[in-house]
Amino acid sequence: MISLQSLDLEVRRLTEEIAEWPKRVANRAADLEKAQKHLASITESLGKEEALRRRQELDVKDHQQKAARLRKQMDVVTTTTQASALEHEINFAEAEITRLEDAELESMERSEQLEAQKAEAEETVANLARAHAADKARAAEVTESHRALLVDVNARRNELRSTIEESALSMYDRIAKSRGTALAEGVDHKCSACQMVVRPQRWNDLRDRSNDETMLTCETCGRLLYWDPARDAPQKKPSKNESIAASIVRAL
Ligand SMILES: [Zn+2]
Repeated sequence: MISLQSLDLEVRRLTEEIAEWPKRVANRAADLEKAQKHLASITESLGKEEALRRRQELDVKDHQQKAARLRKQMDVVTTTTQASALEHEINFAEAEITRLEDAELESMERSEQLEAQKAEAEETVANLARAHAADKARAAEVTESHRALLVDVNARRNELRSTIEESALSMYDRIAKSRGTALAEGVDHKCSACQMVVRPQRWNDLRDRSNDETMLTCETCGRLLYWDPARDAPQKKPSKNESIAASIVRAL
């Protein structure tokens, strides 16, 4: 039954790992998608800055042309009122040109920062794409090899189960189903599964019992206890120096 439990745990481990890989691949794909979206939003912002600067340049040209036109009109004005009105308009156009050129510089600074962010985002996307591809390949490999292992372990498991007595097997299955594992080694007066102390009388029964005695369970977690003198601390009775584990299997 100890061998059966180790095979059962192996089946569980292989099954869980097979199930784990698609999740890992999906998580990686989600990370990649997120990074791609981030890159797309940076690219979009860069496009917006460029469009903004094109508009600003056109506006600057408009104001320059207007200022040039106004200066020509200055040559033909006759009154000081007209002259000061034109001057006012020229000043306004020049102020607008300065404002737009400053704004253009600010936009260029933002673009520079965005370009740096874009390069970083592109690297992230490339790394994640590589990792995603590697995960996918690894997932396929692991799934294939684990499935082959499962066939082998299950065959050994079925063979072993056929050698264990029916009632013991159903007890094992019942405890394994509710507790995850059916067997627990008694180590240092404790159940190694739930860590609760085994009472002295029960501990002595466990340590001293012979092959024909019924199986002992942990009073706290209900698992079947076994005791391995080879593993536990040096005990008083070297004559009983045989594994109870082996005796359980033989008793069944
Ligand atoms: Zn226990």
